[in-house]
Amino acid sequence: MKGKTRFAPSPTGYLHEGHLLSALYVWAAAKKWDLDVHLRIEDHDQERARPKHIAAIREDLQWLGFSWQSESVQSDHFNRFETRLKKLQDQGLVYPCCCSRKELDAENPKNEYGEVIYQGKCLSKFKALNSDFDLSKPHSLRIHIPDKVIQWHDLRMGDFAENPKLQCGDFPIRDRIGQWTYQFAVCADDIDEQITHVIRGEDIRNSTARQIALMELLGRTEPPMYLHHPLIVDTAGKKLSKREKAHSIRQDREAGATPQELLGRVLFHAGLQDSPSPTDLNRALDLICRTL
Ligand SMILES: [Zn+2]
Repeated sequence: MKGKTRFAPSPTGYLHEGHLLSALYVWAAAKKWDLDVHLRIEDHDQERARPKHIAAIREDLQWLGFSWQSESVQSDHFNRFETRLKKLQDQGLVYPCCCSRKELDAENPKNEYGEVIYQGKCLSKFKALNSDFDLSKPHSLRIHIPDKVIQWHDLRMGDFAENPKLQCGDFPIRDRIGQWTYQFAVCADDIDEQITHVIRGEDIRNSTARQIALMELLGRTEPPMYLHHPLIVDTAGKKLSKREKAHSIRQDREAGATPQELLGRVLFHAGLQDSPSPTDLNRALDLICRTL
């Protein structure tokens, strides 16, 4: 069976240079390993997702010259997510957490990325009170993950062995306002959409072990293959998010830039080309293929 990768932006804003670099890696991987590309609009955050951004993602990608074999919008899957949640609950793997942001910060250690390593305070409360837990208070739902090392291989960065219990502890699959979390939505969709290759930025690499752990609990024993690509950094070595946001692909288009100019610029900023000279999409993909 032909493999499948995905490009999965969130429609919370317009695509920027960072997305474009990610798209180039996804389509380069598809070219190299003969994969189908699935476009998934990750609108699990319904508070921040906007229909105009969903339309703009498709349009900007087409304008840049990308094409894909299938697409989906995550919010169409929420019923399926409910069914998956119910199954986890039936297995006793989910518990409510009433800790506020402030309590979480004050009561738990943090990992190297500044994320809380949840120590399971509400698990013991939930167990002690059994079903009498006060659910009228705002609460998130956490997944009770096993205390075990997950071994996984990155196609670019090599082997990893990480224990998500020590990295982040039990993590939320639904947040305090009832929204599906990124971690849960991405795992459910990577399973249901039969994704074989996950290509994404290095900034999400630390989510991989916990996602593999969650996918196992959801019933997928063979995880996808992973490749985490380098990000565009400024001279101080920091991620370019703020400057990128001020500079969306949409704005560049409206200012008269061509796709070739944008591709040349992103390759230059990513250190893959010596100058920002215009480049066509095929040449850009070939350049990246050689680094994979
Ligand atoms: Zn808690």
